[in-house]
Amino acid sequence: MGPGNHCLFCGIAKKEIPSTILYEDSELVAFNDVSPKAPVHVLIIPKKHMDDHLELHEQDCALMGKAHLLANRLAKDLKIDRDGFRLVVNCRQRGGQTVNHLHMHVMGGRDFHWPPG
Ligand code: 5GP
Ligand code: ZN
Repeated sequence: MGPGNHCLFCGIAKKEIPSTILYEDSELVAFNDVSPKAPVHVLIIPKKHMDDHLELHEQDCALMGKAHLLANRLAKDLKIDRDGFRLVVNCRQRGGQTVNHLHMHVMGGRDFHWPPG
């Protein structure tokens, strides 16, 4: 994505596009999915734009580690930790990615099937 191209999740991170933000720090934002597929459905994004999971590099290891710790914290706060939850990162077309800014789904409050559809 080049400069000048509009990115929905960059817009959410900059609060140009409204969302229900549950957590924010200098590197990460967590907000409710606008079309939840489970009783708890939160998206965690890096503020820095990355198109997808394949854009991660060595220098992003700490960032992604923090994203996973944030997922745990949200799971506890939203009380889906005891029963369990699912983390999902869809990547590119066959992975079902529809928004091209890297994001992690934190989903809970119901049973999930395996393998996923
Ligand atoms: P993907 O399919 O790319 O893995 O996930 C994109 C997610 O973003 C979907 O679950 C979709 O419901 C969510 N989404 C799409 N547009 C918006 C929006 O404008 N606001 C919020 N909060 N979520 C969105
Ligand atoms: Zn973006």
